[in-house]
Amino acid sequence: MPIFKKGVMGMVKVIRYGNKRRVTCGSCDSFLEYEKEDVKTVQTGMNEWEGEIICPNCREKVRVKG
Ligand SMILES: [Zn+2]
Repeated sequence: MPIFKKGVMGMVKVIRYGNKRRVTCGSCDSFLEYEKEDVKTVQTGMNEWEGEIICPNCREKVRVKG
């Protein structure tokens, strides 16, 4: 993350820090960073839906919060 020093003129920038989410893969222990667009919603029950991403390392499904 860049550090803006005093004296540097410019616009205020919004850093979309909250956009990326992180999760640890339960299968291979990889620390994954993903975005909302990567999440696939799957139905796990009558009225239950969960988010899911595919771990790029082991190709296993990783449950995430929508
Ligand atoms: Zn994995």
